[in-house]
Amino acid sequence: MHNADPSRRLQAVRLAIQNAASTADRPPPLLLAVGKTRTADELAALCSLRVAQGEATPAFGENYVQEAAVKIEALANEPIQWHLIGHLQSNKARQAAMLFDWVQTVDRPKLAAALARHRPDDRPPLNVLLQVNIDAENSKHGCSPEQVPALAQAVAAEPRLALRGLMAIPEPHPDPAVRRAAFARMHALYETLKKQYPQVDTLSLGMSDDFAQAIAEGSTMVRIGTALFGPRPPVPAAAT
Ligand SMILES: *Cc1c(COP(=O)(O)O)cnc(C)c1O
Repeated sequence: MHNADPSRRLQAVRLAIQNAASTADRPPPLLLAVGKTRTADELAALCSLRVAQGEATPAFGENYVQEAAVKIEALANEPIQWHLIGHLQSNKARQAAMLFDWVQTVDRPKLAAALARHRPDDRPPLNVLLQVNIDAENSKHGCSPEQVPALAQAVAAEPRLALRGLMAIPEPHPDPAVRRAAFARMHALYETLKKQYPQVDTLSLGMSDDFAQAIAEGSTMVRIGTALFGPRPPVPAAAT
């Protein structure tokens, strides 16, 4: 059921986002196009479509620093806002702080400090989301909900970082009600954080399979790959 035409796929995703938002009586979330395994040309084509539709700086997300570095260089003349959405090892913090506009996967104070230390002075502060392991999965990265206040404080104390909100990848549970409950727990954490930090404005939740539920629970940014680009080829081992 994947339409081969990128402009039709974009239109279908936009429509589904609009529908979910109006059903939930919430503002439509921002669209983050997830580009892992896609070529720079595919990203450029989608970027042009989005610019033609009136987006000044379309947001794109990448999972792997090495893969992103190549594409960010190739697309240096495109008005793309780059988000890192994959796990970040501390030894790649310097490169990430130079390449990205946002890092959505900050989950420990040491990583926040490394990103702040390496953010170039001629760039605006690096936008940061705290990644929360909302289902307490052993295999998953992210801080626990209990760790959010201390981590938020560590990020907010860094002038080279801008605390913008929270991100999560709930367990892909077969029961939609279980996933939706995880989104609702994230929304509660987000509302609590906003009370303390008025600059917080972003709750990054929802992917191709579950973005309507995420929007129903207050997502302000959906991260969509497959529904925009079609089925994903395997990630080359060298990219990670
Ligand atoms: C790959 C990925 C997505 C997009 O997933 P799709 O199911 O292709 O929409 C979103 N968020 C993260 C963190 C990802 O790694």
